[in-house]
Amino acid sequence: MKPGIIQRIFNDHYESYRQSRRMSPREEYAANAIMTCRTKALGYHINACPNGDYVDVVANSCGHRACPQCGATDTQLWLERQKAKALNCRYFQVVFTISHDLHPSGVLTANYSPI
Ligand SMILES: [Zn+2]
Repeated sequence: MKPGIIQRIFNDHYESYRQSRRMSPREEYAANAIMTCRTKALGYHINACPNGDYVDVVANSCGHRACPQCGATDTQLWLERQKAKALNCRYFQVVFTISHDLHPSGVLTANYSPI
């Protein structure tokens, strides 16, 4: 998918969608972030070396986790970090939430068994 295609879809259709639906403030905020990401609405910053050999004007990103332009990079970086941590054998990971009452007492203990 080309970068910015979701932004273009939002810019073209969000307003009519919003008028036909009740949007929560979080949804409005996310949509606005996606529509303005890397546009003049968020301003620009300059990357430059002190001696002037390199100057690059870069549009500011929204940084919203739902933004495909910002979040996609973070997601890919996270995925690469997780792959680097993966063990070189068959295993599975179980993640679940337990009550805080069970944390300090040691009532729950891990029981590992090989596959
Ligand atoms: Zn963004």
